[in-house]
Amino acid sequence: VVLVGNVISIVIAVVAGWFLAKRALVPIQKSWEKQQQFIADASHELRTPLTAILVNLERLFRHPDHTIEQESEKIMIGMQEAKRLSHLVSDLLTLARSDSNELQIMKKKFNIDVVVETCTHVFTQMAIAKEVSMETKIEKPLEMVGDEERIHQLLVILLDNALKFTPEKGSIYVSSQQEGQRIVIIVQDTGVGIPKEDIPFVFDRFYRVDKMRTKATEGTGLGLSIAKWIVDAHEGKIQVSSEEGEGTTFTVTLPVK
Ligand code: ADP
Repeated sequence: VVLVGNVISIVIAVVAGWFLAKRALVPIQKSWEKQQQFIADASHELRTPLTAILVNLERLFRHPDHTIEQESEKIMIGMQEAKRLSHLVSDLLTLARSDSNELQIMKKKFNIDVVVETCTHVFTQMAIAKEVSMETKIEKPLEMVGDEERIHQLLVILLDNALKFTPEKGSIYVSSQQEGQRIVIIVQDTGVGIPKEDIPFVFDRFYRVDKMRTKATEGTGLGLSIAKWIVDAHEGKIQVSSEEGEGTTFTVTLPVK
């Protein structure tokens, strides 16, 4: 009887151990798969601009007698793609460092109204060139504790998207204000909008809605995942609401302290 009891105990312990180990391994396996996917996507994205640069350089070599003017298109494409590559590498570095917790958020008190104003000022100039109107409503002064540089980066990502996806004669509205212990920033546009089925994925790495539609606009599909990382690191929230053909609204809520 004792022997049978011991055998049963051992079997239970082994089965329980196996289940526990399997459960503990699931997150590791998931995170490994996520990393593998990230590397595969990153390699694919890096290859596209690299191929374009190589093809254009090779085409330049075919006509060594041509002048720069005659070859300006190829040189221009090469430069654009090199710029894209540099942008992509810097975004990838940001995300890789954030994954390994190497990237620190430097929190200190700063005036977020000044950051919002500086960013919107730069984008207003670009919006004018594109015949897009820009309206701002910035509460002053607005102080918060956070990483000023990262919040600046977050605004650039949202404003850049708003301008990219808003056609001529459209408008962009930016507001920032304090609500209790929270700072609320809204970036709203009257652009192309995001289809309902794509909304849950826009913060995913490399996700771009309808490749054909976004092909005409520059981008890596990494901007919003970086934006989400910045907001999460501040223990804030980022939400999106959108209507296809009507426009998109991003609402960011950040704790004051
Ligand atoms: P991208 O570099 O393509 O802008 P993001 O991660 O910033 O990458 O955005 C992911 C995708 O979400 C975009 O490619 C676009 O399809 C969609 N998106 C983001 N912001 C907007 C916006 N304001 N209006 C319409 N679509 C948007």
